[in-house]
Amino acid sequence: MSRLIRAVIEPRALRHNLTTIRERVRRARVMAVVKANAYGHGLVPTALSLPEADAFAVARLEEGLALRAAGITQPIVLLEGVFTAEQLLEAARHGFDLVVHDALQVELLEEMSGAHRFVLWIKIDTGMNRLGFPPREFAAALERVRRLKTAPLEIRLLTHLACADVRDNHMTNQQVGRFREAIRGLGYSVSIANSAGIFGSAQLACDWVRPGLALYGATPFPDGSAAQLGLEPVMSLESSVIALRRVTAGETVGYGAAWTAPRDSSIAIIAAGYGDGLPRNLPGGTPVLIAGARAPIVGRVSMDMIAVDVSALPEVHVGTNVVLWGPGLPVEEIARHAGTIPYELLCSVSQRVPLELR
Ligand SMILES: *Cc1c(COP(=O)(O)O)cnc(C)c1O
Repeated sequence: MSRLIRAVIEPRALRHNLTTIRERVRRARVMAVVKANAYGHGLVPTALSLPEADAFAVARLEEGLALRAAGITQPIVLLEGVFTAEQLLEAARHGFDLVVHDALQVELLEEMSGAHRFVLWIKIDTGMNRLGFPPREFAAALERVRRLKTAPLEIRLLTHLACADVRDNHMTNQQVGRFREAIRGLGYSVSIANSAGIFGSAQLACDWVRPGLALYGATPFPDGSAAQLGLEPVMSLESSVIALRRVTAGETVGYGAAWTAPRDSSIAIIAAGYGDGLPRNLPGGTPVLIAGARAPIVGRVSMDMIAVDVSALPEVHVGTNVVLWGPGLPVEEIARHAGTIPYELLCSVSQRVPLELR
């Protein structure tokens, strides 16, 4: 019996994707986004596999601490900044770069004792209406940051796009227009593009880019493939057949008797379920890769198992390896079946699924 469910991670593909991104953005520096456990790929192993990244970006302080504990020496950007004086001190101790998106964060910096110096990324809200200073409040925030008792090591500016995954989008043009207006004449380094921005428009590269999904080898666009962008999948989510059975026409398989065999069929039971992060609402007909071919899931996803119709694949046996997504079966395709996006599937791979570096 080969092993049960595991997420096989290919560091070579990760580095390949970083190179592809670099070629696309030329001189822009790359902040590799490794929040949410590196989109399910393992925070520390992912960062250790990218010695060429100019910086790493995480959402939360704890993620940054884990990177430093693992010996990562590159700059680490906290995309949501800090929210308390204790966190600010912790960020100073570990040399984190901070996004400043709110007046409360400026206050924390003003009130900080000691001569700690940060790289500060001031975030401008150009229309996402999530984090950042609206353009009319930005100048005042910048002025306060410039006057901090301990001057920042460097001030940089960023914004985030709402619709970068739609090419030639009106909202993107509007956001970029507002950003350019706000930063005009300031001369600071700036950053606009996430993965979709990087591959959607060469003009968004600026000084820094912030790829997440593309690094992991999936396309951020709702159509087209990662391969067309020159990206290779980094994760292969794999498991094995743990049982095989024959069902006769008219019998049902699984909870709710949701699938009825239209004819005598061979059913493979595979050790992968919603307890591993597969969406329970994956509809019947969603493919898996087994013995090099596609075969459809039948019936409901259970906590630990799925059933697959392998009637057309007589070579399948107990122990046969199964790819749930990975090379040959893009995670984007599975996401479409599930009515979600590859981001969510990758982030949902659960704790009990071991990561294996290839
Ligand atoms: C998550 C995040 C990114 C990365 O987005 P992708 O679409 O995965 O490339 C970039 N910038 C910010 C501010 C983010 O929060």
